[in-house]
Amino acid sequence: MTDARLGELGFTAAQADAFRAFAAEGLVAGRVVAGHTRYLRVATPDGETLAELAGSLKHQAESALELPAVGDWVALRPGAEAGSGVIQAVLPRRSAFVRRAAGARTVAQVLAANVDTVFLVMGLDGDFNLRRIERALVLAWDSGAAPVLLLNKADLCPDAPQKRAEVERVAPGVPVCVVAAKPGEGLAALKPWIVPGRTVVLLGSSGVGKSTLVNRLLGHEKQKTREVIESADQRGRHTTTHRELIALPGGALLIDTPGLRELSLWSDGAGLAAAFDDVSTLAAGCRFNDCGHDSEPGCAVRAAVADGSLDAARLESFLKLQAELRSLEIREDPLKRRAEVGRWRAAFKSVRKNPKRG
Ligand code: GDP
Ligand code: ZN
Repeated sequence: MTDARLGELGFTAAQADAFRAFAAEGLVAGRVVAGHTRYLRVATPDGETLAELAGSLKHQAESALELPAVGDWVALRPGAEAGSGVIQAVLPRRSAFVRRAAGARTVAQVLAANVDTVFLVMGLDGDFNLRRIERALVLAWDSGAAPVLLLNKADLCPDAPQKRAEVERVAPGVPVCVVAAKPGEGLAALKPWIVPGRTVVLLGSSGVGKSTLVNRLLGHEKQKTREVIESADQRGRHTTTHRELIALPGGALLIDTPGLRELSLWSDGAGLAAAFDDVSTLAAGCRFNDCGHDSEPGCAVRAAVADGSLDAARLESFLKLQAELRSLEIREDPLKRRAEVGRWRAAFKSVRKNPKRG
């Protein structure tokens, strides 16, 4: 399927391949733009559809992770009534943000799918915290989306260049942009990621300026962008409805769902290894495969701390996050979670190798 409308919504060649078998059955491809209740809003080339889950999808799902979330691509059987449909399948994701809901039993839920870029927003004011940045990077790498660090409120920070250098040291290979969302400074640096067909999300603690940034990105064209999603609606319904996947003026798509902004750590360890690429590389030189970088002989990581090439606080941060992930593993079946996360792990690797992929 080469529908231009699908491309605008972020449909990739891989998803088109995956969809081919469904197209042969007369199903329609669409992207979930909102949905928490029984019904999901799905944008399709023929307009927006209010869709229900097929009973088979609900009953065959082994976990909530298999159910469609905002940003997912789905195969839809159009209903008899215009604008209605039934979701028959969820197409393979290229990335996903998963939340583990707190409780006696850890339950995982997808909050956003098929995200290309995650803007990790940090404040250059009182919020500035390198350890928090490291933690956020683990989460971002684990999602399969490529992280970009946004240091906001530059107008409040006299030593922004120095802060930026500190951040670059804890975020190897991650682009860092210094911006001031409120006065609108430095935002041109975000252009490489605000491009047609690409999907972005904003993560960061409360108060760092995410809403301000979203409004900046939407600019004065908020109304116009809404029409992009609705333009193909031939029935001309123009009711204003809540959406969590929004088209930005630059052609990119923004996912902004409640809960996504304050994700807690959920990882199979790959995100940790990626966020701490420097530590992982050093660890390969440790004498023992399972070195805990504590008091083992021949520890290359400790040696790097001793000779000053690795910051002790960074190692401490790594060990702390690792311990946190291990306690998660004990609480649930690691094999099962590994399989779940592994679904988009392959895509994750290709994102890392080629972050500018179109
Ligand atoms: P959110 O909780 O992350 O969505 O943060 P908001 O967008 O609500 O911003 C929190 C506060 O920070 C508001 O008072 C904003 O006006 C302010 N703010 C956001 N960006 C900037 C900035 O670049 N500079 C300054 N000085 N204040 C900002
Ligand atoms: Zn070691």
